[in-house]
Amino acid sequence: MKESIISIVLAAVLILTIITFDRTRNASSKTLTACYSPVIIIDAGHGGEDGGAVANDNTAEKDINLSVSLKINDILSLFGFKTCMIRETDKLIYDVSATTMRQKKNSDLHNRHKMMDEYENCLYLSIHQNKFEDSRIWGAQTFYSPNDEQSPILAEFIQSEIISLIQPDNTRVIKKTGTSVFVIYNATKPAVMVECGFISNPQELKKLKDDKYQNEMSFAISNGVINYYISEVKNGSEV
Ligand SMILES: [Zn+2]
Repeated sequence: MKESIISIVLAAVLILTIITFDRTRNASSKTLTACYSPVIIIDAGHGGEDGGAVANDNTAEKDINLSVSLKINDILSLFGFKTCMIRETDKLIYDVSATTMRQKKNSDLHNRHKMMDEYENCLYLSIHQNKFEDSRIWGAQTFYSPNDEQSPILAEFIQSEIISLIQPDNTRVIKKTGTSVFVIYNATKPAVMVECGFISNPQELKKLKDDKYQNEMSFAISNGVINYYISEVKNGSEV
C-alpha cells in the first residue's frame, strides 16, 4: 500500500495546486469548480425493501454497498472533492405515489438517474456486489455506460487501481452495461458501476464483509477516480 499512499498524496498536492492556481485567476475566468472539480455522485446500490443479491449467510448486498460507499465518500471528501450520496441510510429513493414493489424500484432508479441532471459537472459512481451460481467465481469488475465516451476511461482507471492495489490475480476487464442496468446505461455523464466482488464466493464474501478490506476496496476505487481526474486535468479537459 506504500505506493498507493504516495500516489494519493501526489494527487492531493496536485489538487491543492490547481485550487491555488484557480484562486489567482481573474474573475472572468471559469471557476475551478465549473472547469475541473466534478461532483462525485456516490450511489450505494439497492436499499430498504430492495436488498439486492443475498448471500448464503443472508448478508444482503445493499449493506456492503452502503458501507463501501460511505467509506468512498469519506476518502474523496478528505481530498477535497464535492460528493453527493444517493443514500446514507438503508432506504430506497422512491416517490410517495409508488406503492407496489415494482413501482418503488422503478421510481427509485429514475430518481437516482435524475441526480446526474442536478449537476452540470459530475461523475456517477455506483457500488454493487455480484452473485453467480458457481461459487468459485470471484473478483471485482467495473462496468461503464456505452452512452458516454468518458465512462470507459473512468472505468479503466478504477479497474486498474483495484487490480494493482488489492487483486493482482484478477484478470477481469471493464465491460459495457446492458439496458438492464438502467441508471448507468442511460447515463448523461461519466458513469460507472463497480461490482466489488462476488458474495456467492465464501472467501470473497468474508473479505467483503471485513471492515479493513472494505477500506482497501474503497481506497482503490477512490484512487481510480482521483487518477481519472488528474489525467483529465492534464489533458486540459473539463471533467
Ligand atoms: Zn446490485
